[in-house]
Parts: sequence; C-alpha cells; structure tokens
Amino acid sequence: MIIIMKPSASQKDVQNITRLIESKGLTAHLSEGTQVTIVGVVGDKSRLAGINLEISQGVDKVVPVTESYKLVNRKFHPENSSVSVGSAVIGPDTLTIMAGPCAIESQQQLIDTAFAVKKAGATILRGGAYKPRTSPYSFQGLEEEGLKYMMEARQATGLSVVCEVTSLKAIEKAVKYVDMLQIGARNMQNFELLKEAGKSGLPVLLKRGLAATIDEWLNAAEYIISEGNENIVLCERGIRTYETATRNTLDLSAVPVIRKKSHLPIIVDPSHATGVRDYVEPLAKASIAAGADGLMIEVHPCPECALSDGPQSLTFDGFEALADQLRPYAQLEGRKF
Ligand code: PEP
Ligand code: MN
Repeated sequence: MIIIMKPSASQKDVQNITRLIESKGLTAHLSEGTQVTIVGVVGDKSRLAGINLEISQGVDKVVPVTESYKLVNRKFHPENSSVSVGSAVIGPDTLTIMAGPCAIESQQQLIDTAFAVKKAGATILRGGAYKPRTSPYSFQGLEEEGLKYMMEARQATGLSVVCEVTSLKAIEKAVKYVDMLQIGARNMQNFELLKEAGKSGLPVLLKRGLAATIDEWLNAAEYIISEGNENIVLCERGIRTYETATRNTLDLSAVPVIRKKSHLPIIVDPSHATGVRDYVEPLAKASIAAGADGLMIEVHPCPECALSDGPQSLTFDGFEALADQLRPYAQLEGRKF
C-alpha cells in the first residue's frame, strides 16, 4: 500500500507514520515529490490490521498496491527516475545512446569503436566480455581481458562503460572495471544474479527476457531494487513470437506501458530486436517517438568480420549517419542529445 500525505503534512507527520510502520516490522519507503510525500509500505500488511492510517495526522489517503512489484512501481514513486552511469545520465530529459560491439574482440577493435561512437554522440560504450551464446561452440568472450580493454577505453575517451554479466563470478570481476552491469535477456529471471547485481552498488541495465511478460520483467527489477539498488534501467530488446522475418519482435508498446507502470528509465535495443542492420534506423526513430529514454545500438569496425552479431551491427559511418538522423526526433520529444 501507499500512504499519500497531504500537501500540508509536516516532517513530523511523515516521521510519525514511518515510525508506526516500522514498529510493526514493515518497511517504509519515502518518495518526496514536489507536491506531496508518498510513504510506500512493503511487508505483511495484516500487521497493520486494526489501525486506521487514514485518520492519522497529515494523511490524505491510503491506496492499496495490488501489483506484486512495489518499489519499481510508479505508485510508490510518481516522478520519473534518472540513473547516473559514470558521467552519463539516463532519463527523463535526455536521449542516451549506448553503442559498441556485440563482443569485445581486441583492444584495437574496442578503442577504435569507442572513439567512433563518441564522435557520433554516444555517451556510453557497450561491449560484451562474457557472451551468452546460443551455441557453446560460438565465441564466448574475452572475459577479464575484455573488461580491462573496457576500462582502458573509458579512460581514453571519457565514455561510461557497460558490460553484461552472466554469473556471480563475472559480477565480482566486472565491478572493478565498468560503470554499469548488464543483465541479459537470457538471465532476466536468474534471481541469484539479480540479487547480486542489486548488492553490487553499480547501476544495472536489465534487459527483457526472451519471452517475459512486462509483469515478470518488473518483478525481476524488483529483485534488484529490493537489495537497495535503485539505479536500474530497463531495456526492451524484442520478444519471441511466431514471426521469423526479424530475429525477435520489437514490442514497442512496452515503452509506454513501462512508463505508466514504473518510474524506471527504459531504453530500446533495435539491434537485438531485429537482427537486421537495415531495420535499426526506423525502429530507433519509433522508439524515441514511443518515449524511450535511450537506445542501445551495436556498432563494429568491420561487421562482416564480427565474431558475433555482424548482420545487425552498424559500421562507424552508418552509426554516425543514424545519430544525425535521430537528432531532430530527440528534439521533437524534448530530449537532449
Ligand atoms: C547483448 O546485449 O549483447 C545481448 C546478448 O543481448 P540480449 O541479452 O538482449 O540478447
Ligand atoms: Mn549482440
């Protein structure tokens, strides 16, 4: 449930309410908006049986929250959240672009890509050091060596860096080198990984599972936030449907739905959603129109030589042209880019 305080409620009124909640063994989460303060209650509500909170000093009303996710719920936190990733910010007034290769393949490949995507306007470098490949015989990533290249690219360019983590061991390593952890589609419901990412202290990019509903996705985010980590960004990357013309089906409606249900920023990854280079640009534009706070785009110095996801990767020139095309769209939506 949430307790909406009156605009006239004093600090003391809010304090009395939170103390009462905590005295019953429940947790109170404050969201102090410009107009009103909301006290979100997490825990077994039956412990408040017999207490009429609505007549407490300073309380306007008490609203039940029926969804199983609470802290990521917009009802708990009506204002849009923004997440800082190193020197970059995601949401709500910016269009943040994360770009880079699917997999980190070499120091040179990464550094060249980092400079190219920075020049075009990206503020976050992406690149996989631990690759969750469908086949065990495909390139699995450079692991810690790749993370080191990421850190070097960050130092050389000033870009913030994000890397996917696929295991608890990978989290342990990655926290030393990167600004943001990515939980990939295949691990969206790896609850131990989610909890560990929540404890890491780093912002987390949570991709939507291959066949996950929006409710399941938000519950996955709740696992992270319930460990005390509020810095979560959601990423729609397409879901599995019967359609085979594209790698996945981009569920653009997830963007306004998430924005309604949650305060967390949401970005779109048209590269993995389509698997086809030519479809990245139209869907990147559509994502901005739908309300996305950013984009994730795969870029490679030589897509035809890429060790993974070459067909969907843009060249440096292609990425620069895309970024130029996106500028008026960002402006139209009132987003800095
Ligand atoms: C990726 O971003 O490198 C990736 C593997 O994406 P996804 O988890 O969305 O398939
Ligand atoms: Mn990829």
